[in-house]
Amino acid sequence: MSVTHETLELHTRQPFGIARWTHSVYPRTFVSLTQGGHTGRGEAAPNAFYGETAATVQAVLPGLLDCLQDPWDWDGLHAAMTARFPHHHPSVKCALEMAALEWCALSAGVPVWKLLGLSPAPVPESSFTVSLAELPAMRQQAREAVQAGYGVLKVKLGTEQDMQIVEALREEAPAVSLRVDANAAWNRHGARRMLEVLDAAGVALVEQPLAADDLEGHAELRRFSRVPIMADESLHHVSDVPTLSRSFDAVNLKLAKLGGPLQALNALRTARALKMGVMIGCMIESSLGIAAAVSLAGLCDWADLDGALLLSDDPYSGLEWQAGHVQRPTAAGWGVARR
Ligand SMILES: [Mg+2]
Repeated sequence: MSVTHETLELHTRQPFGIARWTHSVYPRTFVSLTQGGHTGRGEAAPNAFYGETAATVQAVLPGLLDCLQDPWDWDGLHAAMTARFPHHHPSVKCALEMAALEWCALSAGVPVWKLLGLSPAPVPESSFTVSLAELPAMRQQAREAVQAGYGVLKVKLGTEQDMQIVEALREEAPAVSLRVDANAAWNRHGARRMLEVLDAAGVALVEQPLAADDLEGHAELRRFSRVPIMADESLHHVSDVPTLSRSFDAVNLKLAKLGGPLQALNALRTARALKMGVMIGCMIESSLGIAAAVSLAGLCDWADLDGALLLSDDPYSGLEWQAGHVQRPTAAGWGVARR
């Protein structure tokens, strides 16, 4: 078995802003596992909120490669990686798990979702993200998305102008399903006022209104809110889900923060057992990482999978998008190819 990796700088078409930062360059590390004529591939999309950067990925990855002893031993891989790093480096774990899963799927000649026996149900329509910017630029993003045929918009908030932004975007896009992501930027009092505005604007969903560790605050908001409240930054590990079920209606599952497709699947099934709603989400990442998320999407209520659509230099192709609609790949493995 040989395992190689390379880091590429991916670029967004426009600077991408959320409450904490604005960036346009996203270094991602790609892993390839080759054995017996098949190459399984994975992507590490590190996010500083979860304690990762391109530098931590590059520092940690070489030391974890020997966890990949047998591509079929998924539990063994997970156990070996978590023995080294119980709670850290989830995007590296994701990349290695993705590579093992794809290698097995290629050996079996099936898409990964079939290998895992996952639902072939249609992928829910994905939202397209309106990133945080000056109000006229946000209006412009929404207008262009509607013209391009998107039916679901996700708006990034966390400014002094949040109410005006919601009202302006609702005016700009009266017919779309509107979701809001505060990225943990509100306080309890401000969030209550915003929830009334969101309800009046017919917002379908609000992601992470308060700080990640303010579970009591989220539980209070949930008792008051008519808009479902979803955990994103509050969810780091599968083991968080039962606690979060007391404060949130739903969870946002991202492979790169949970440690890979199988960990995301565990979180999904735990959330379902607790009667929570589930969204499949993503980082800014290539179509390789998005293809892995798409594999799980038939099991979810909502999808937020536009991470590769925001890129100007996606190194992978093969996902067929029509505005927010994507088909699950039918080719073996993840179903995407390097450009
Ligand atoms: Mg979010």
